[in-house]
Amino acid sequence: MKDSSEAMTMTEAIEMLKTTRPTFYRWLRDGKIKGMKVGRQWRFYREDLERFMGGEEPRVDLPANISPLLKFLEERLLEKGVGLGEAEEDEDLATAAVKRMIRLAYFSGASDLHLQAGEKEGLLRLRIGGRLQELTRIDRRLVAPLVDRWKSLASCDLNEKNRPQDGRLLLELGSGADEAEAKSVDVRVCFVPSFSGECLTARLLDTSHGMIQLDQIDFDAADRAKLDRVLAKGRGLVVVTGPAGCGKTSTLYACMNAMRVPENMLMSIEDPISFTLPDVVQIRVRPQHGVTFAPALRAMLRSDPDVILVGEVRGRDTVEVFLQGVLNGHMILTALHAEDAVSALSRLSSLCEHPQVLSDTLELIVAQRLVRCVCPECSQPCEPEAFLEDAKREIARAGLNWSDLNANFVRGEGCAACGGLGYRGRTVIAEVLEMTPALRQAQRSGAGEEELNKIVLEGGMSTMAIDGIRKAAAGKTTLEEVARVLGLSWWK
Ligand SMILES: [Zn+2]
Repeated sequence: MKDSSEAMTMTEAIEMLKTTRPTFYRWLRDGKIKGMKVGRQWRFYREDLERFMGGEEPRVDLPANISPLLKFLEERLLEKGVGLGEAEEDEDLATAAVKRMIRLAYFSGASDLHLQAGEKEGLLRLRIGGRLQELTRIDRRLVAPLVDRWKSLASCDLNEKNRPQDGRLLLELGSGADEAEAKSVDVRVCFVPSFSGECLTARLLDTSHGMIQLDQIDFDAADRAKLDRVLAKGRGLVVVTGPAGCGKTSTLYACMNAMRVPENMLMSIEDPISFTLPDVVQIRVRPQHGVTFAPALRAMLRSDPDVILVGEVRGRDTVEVFLQGVLNGHMILTALHAEDAVSALSRLSSLCEHPQVLSDTLELIVAQRLVRCVCPECSQPCEPEAFLEDAKREIARAGLNWSDLNANFVRGEGCAACGGLGYRGRTVIAEVLEMTPALRQAQRSGAGEEELNKIVLEGGMSTMAIDGIRKAAAGKTTLEEVARVLGLSWWK
């Protein structure tokens, strides 16, 4: 490996090429010059600059033929009716491959892309609708140079191969697809050294998601009415709960968006910031820079915001500050890691020193999951075999009538649009717990989960299972999918 201390600084490189800083930057951005980041500084090797002066492409050592991969990605993009994007004329092959991977992931509706080297082959996979799918296998020797190209596009250090690194890149999707206007995708990339070589995980954030509206989330009408009622109050604590990847952030942002009127001062405190929101003062928690949750939140409360979004409840100290804020008339939206609405309530109670304060401030808990939708292109009416009896039992247990569901079950046969899976896109299944006087009373007196559950169900809360069954009966998803996502314990 080359010693990075021998490398030139940017000023030296500019001098060597006898050019101006803006031009140099353009060459660098366009990938014509190979450089690396050391901390926040760029460094350049003389040999790379000499190659550039000689009119050669930056050196990307490709020890194997990359054409099959490029061709595969191109074909898959064309199948989706998406072009290759506007490639720069002299874009090198590795860069083209990386950009095609991102485009394909984006237009396949993937949330993540994984590239890793296996024992014999490299593996490229996409996570679509929460499930990991193999896209293709490639020559193992291509993985390292591709990881390097990802690194340079994500402004990471190419020479650091032994430690994990995080980077970020923005890709303009441009025209070429029906629905793509001037969209760009924000990609967060994480590089991890492994026994068989470095692997990477890229998370795709559609930058338009920050504007998500509550109407775009398929809440049951009664659940939505509860949410609207609480948001209209403009004060109190609202908690969204569920495991990682259940869409908590989207729901929180949509609530925040609903409060986005000129007379409201909105702030958020997050780690990391998932989406940038217009008109919202967003603060990122950075413990290494001395910005931690509780003090940042306290400072925020002093600047008198109307609504605060707090990324996640971290522990006792955060909860105490929250509740104080809510008592002073603010509205706080936050996420909590819990299985369901009632366990979130009992978890919150356990984090509070004064149960009275929680019962005075908590307004609403949304618990949710994401289920895959049946592909509309290939959906066919069907009579479900699996889980039908369980679903009927669950409906009866909730005091509802099966016949009121007007069951219209479907399943996806599998087609080109859904890649043969029968599912395409995801929707939410949720339960919304609104604090009632009875519930506040029980929570204050330290009632256990069982008792809280009883009160909640008597109060008529429709559970995630019921919401899921209703959505399956309405032909949006399937009972198998609901059972898979909720876990079988829900069906007893
Ligand atoms: Zn289909």
